[in-house]
Amino acid sequence: MTNNHHDNTRNIAILGSTGSIGTQTLDVISEYPGRFRATVLTANTNVEMLAAQARKYLPRQVVIGREELLPRLRDMLAGLPIETSAGASAIEQCVARDDVDTVVTAMVGYSGLAPTINAIRNNKCIALANKETLVVAGELITSLLRESDSTTHIIPVDSEHSAIFQCLEGETTEHASKIILTASGGPFRTLSAERLKQVTVADALHHPNWDMGAKVTIDSASMMNKGFEMIEAHWLFDCPASKIEVVVHPQSIVHSMVQFADGSVKAQLGVPDMHLPIRYALGYPERLHTSQPPLSLEQYSRLSFEAPDTDRFPLLRYAFDAIEAGGNTPCVLNAANEIAVSAFLNGRLPFVEMPGLVAATIEAVAYSPHTDYDTLVQTNAEARAKAEEILTIL
Ligand code: MG
Repeated sequence: MTNNHHDNTRNIAILGSTGSIGTQTLDVISEYPGRFRATVLTANTNVEMLAAQARKYLPRQVVIGREELLPRLRDMLAGLPIETSAGASAIEQCVARDDVDTVVTAMVGYSGLAPTINAIRNNKCIALANKETLVVAGELITSLLRESDSTTHIIPVDSEHSAIFQCLEGETTEHASKIILTASGGPFRTLSAERLKQVTVADALHHPNWDMGAKVTIDSASMMNKGFEMIEAHWLFDCPASKIEVVVHPQSIVHSMVQFADGSVKAQLGVPDMHLPIRYALGYPERLHTSQPPLSLEQYSRLSFEAPDTDRFPLLRYAFDAIEAGGNTPCVLNAANEIAVSAFLNGRLPFVEMPGLVAATIEAVAYSPHTDYDTLVQTNAEARAKAEEILTIL
C-alpha cells in the first residue's frame, strides 16, 4: 500500500512562491531535503519563474493568478506530471489538498485573505507571511482559528512576530505586560519633513537592512509596515493597542521584545535575514540546525533604540487609531494604503501625500462594526474606489 503520508516529510504549499518570501522559503526547503517538500506553488504574474521553480522542485500543482498566462505555463511544463491551473479561485482551492500540511501565505496585500481562510477551514497550519490578512480580517481569522481543530495554528513569519512568538514560548500571555515591536525606521528615518517631500521611488525602494518586495519596502519607508505589524500583533497575541509599543532600532538585530509583569524583558536577536523566521515557522516546534553563520555581536559596536516620530510618519498613528476604532476601519486603512503605495510607485502621488490619501479615505468610507467576510469584501471594494476617486482630485 502506498500513500502520501508514509514518511515524515512535511508538505508545503507556497502562495506567492516567486516573491521574496516565496523564494527564500524554497531555499529553506532545499536546505532540508526529505524533511520538507513543496507540493503546491502559486504566483500572480511571474510565469517564467514559476515554471522554472516547478521544473526544479516538481510540485504536484502550480497555479498562476493571471488566467491568460495559463497556456504559457502549460507549454513550459509540458510532459511533466504537474497539475496546472489559473485564477484566484484556483489559488483559494489549492490549499485544501490532502497533500498540503502547511500553507506559507506569501502573496501581497488583500489577495491573501480568501486562501488563508480556506486553509484554516481545512485545518492546515499557516506560516503567515501576509500581514494584510490579519490587518483586514484579524477578528474573523482568530474566530475561525478558535473553531478549528486544535492542530491548526498560525506561526508568524514576520520577523518581529516570530521574535514575540519565541519570547512567549513557555510563558502565559497573562504575564506579558507589554509587546515591544522594533522598527528599523526605514531609509528615511533621519530625513527632515522638508527633505521627505523630495524623496523618489528609487530612494524609497532602497531599504538599509532588509531585502524585500516593493510593497513592504514602501510600507517600511512610510512606517505603515510597522503600523500593520501593531495590528498583526494585536490579533496574534490578543494584546490591546495600549500594550504595544514601537521602538526604532536601526540595526535590525533585536527583532522584538516582550516585557513581563515582573519587569523582566525578553528579546530575540538574529541577523536580519528572513530565512531565520521562515526556518523557525516551518520547523516549529523543533529548531532546525543550520550551517549558516550565526550572529556575531562583535560586528555591531552599538545597538541603539529611539522613539518613533509619528509627526513625520503619521501612518503609524493611524494604525494605532484603527485598532481602537475596530470594525471595518483596519480594512479601509489597508485598502487605502494599497492604492496609495501603487500610486506612489507609478509616480501619481508624492511620498508625503500617502498619509493624507489614507486619512481622507478613512474619513469617506462609512464605519461598520461588523467584521464578517461579506462586510470586509464590500468595505475593501468601497475603500479602493474612494481612494482612487480622492486620488484624482488631490
Ligand atoms: Mg516585519
